Amino acid sequence: MKDLAAQLAQYEQENLYRTRQVIDGPPGVEVSIAGEKLLSFCSNDYLGLANHPEVVAAFHRGLDEYGVGSGAAHLVTGHIREHHALEEELADFVQRPRALLFSTGYMANLGVMTALAGRGDRIFEDRLNHASLLDGARLSDARLVRYAHCDTEALGQLLASAPPGEYLVATDGVFSMDGDCAPLPELAAVAGQHAAWLLVDDAHGIGVTGPDGRGSVAAAGLGLAEVPVLMGTLGKAVGTFGAFVAGSDDLIETLIQRARTWIYTTAPPPALASATRAALRLVTREAWRREQLQQLVVRFRAGAEQLGLATGVSTTPIQPVIVGEPETALRLSEALHAAGILITAIRPPTVPEGTARLRITFSALHTEAQVDRLLDALDVVKKGQTPFSDTA
Ligand SMILES: *Cc1c(COP(=O)(O)O)cnc(C)c1O
Repeated sequence: MKDLAAQLAQYEQENLYRTRQVIDGPPGVEVSIAGEKLLSFCSNDYLGLANHPEVVAAFHRGLDEYGVGSGAAHLVTGHIREHHALEEELADFVQRPRALLFSTGYMANLGVMTALAGRGDRIFEDRLNHASLLDGARLSDARLVRYAHCDTEALGQLLASAPPGEYLVATDGVFSMDGDCAPLPELAAVAGQHAAWLLVDDAHGIGVTGPDGRGSVAAAGLGLAEVPVLMGTLGKAVGTFGAFVAGSDDLIETLIQRARTWIYTTAPPPALASATRAALRLVTREAWRREQLQQLVVRFRAGAEQLGLATGVSTTPIQPVIVGEPETALRLSEALHAAGILITAIRPPTVPEGTARLRITFSALHTEAQVDRLLDALDVVKKGQTPFSDTA
C-alpha cells in the first residue's frame, strides 16, 4: 500500500494541501466562518437564487407534496411528475426538443460521454476543460485528444489528421477557472466540417449569458444542428442542484438506454425539481440580475486595471487574478481573509502549473460598494506581497 502520510506531507510541502472551511448559515455574499462575517467572492450562485424566498418556498411545497427521497432510479419508480415537468421546462428554456435531468453535472458529463463514445472513437477536448469532461473521456475508452485552449485551428488540424471514425468535440462554454468564453461558432464550424459531434458544457453560462440567460450557445445563436449536445448545471446560476443534458429526441432516448450515471442511481428528490422550476422562472423573469452582474464586472475590471492586476480577458462573473505559485495564492487568500474578504486560492491540479490564482466571482447580490471594498483590499494585499507585485 501507498504511504498516505508521506503523500500528504508532500502536498503540504508544495502548498497544494487542500482543506475545507466550515460555513455557518445560508449562502450569500456574506458568509459566517467561526463566528466571523466575511464578504465572499467565491460562490457560483451568480444570480443570488440559492436562498431566494420563492425558491425556498417552492422547495418546502415540494417536500410537503412529495416527501424527501424519490425512492428509486428514474427507470424504476423514481421519475416523479415534478422531474418530468422540470425536464420539459429545461428543454423549452434552452430551445431543444428534449432534456434529461441528471443528479450532478459531473455525472451528466460522465454519462453522456460514455453513452456516445467508446473504444475506437476520438474525443477532442480543450486543454482547460473541466475535470468532469476529461474524466468522461477517460471512462469512455475513446482516445482523448487535447487541443490548445480555444485554438480552433489546432483542433481543425487534429481532426483532419485523425483516422476515420466517430469524433466528439467537447468544450466548456464559459471556462470555469478563467471565465473566458469558448469560440463556439468557430468550434461548431470546425466540428461540422469533420462530421464531429459538439458537446458544450455550459455550467457557467446558463442563467448568466445569452438572451433571458439561456446560456453561451444561445448567445452565439447556435441551434441543435451546430450543438447537438448541450449540458447545463443547476447548482450554479440557477441556485439549486443537479444538471441536465438537452438535445434531440434520439439523443435523450439514447441516454435513457445507455447513460450509466443516469440509469444506476437514485433519482434526485422531487422537491429539488420544484425548487429548480421556481428558480428557472426567476432566471428568465429577472433580467436585472444579469444586468447588475455585468455592471459589477465592468466596475471590477476597470478598478483592477488601475491597480495593475493581471485579470485576463474574461467579461463574465468569473474574474481570475493569476499570481503564479501556489504559495503566493495561499498567502494572498489568507491576507484577504484577515481583511474580512473570502476568496479561495485555486491551485494545481485544478489549474495548470504556474497559474495558481485567486478566482474571484461576483453575484447579482453584491453591491458596487462591496466591489470597491474588494478592490481596496486587493490593493493593500498587493502592496504587502512582493512576489505578487512582481507577477502582476
Ligand atoms: C461545476 C462544473 C461541473 C460539475 O457540475 P456539478 O453539478 O457541480 O457536478 C461540470 N462542468 C463544469 C464546467 C463545471 O464548472
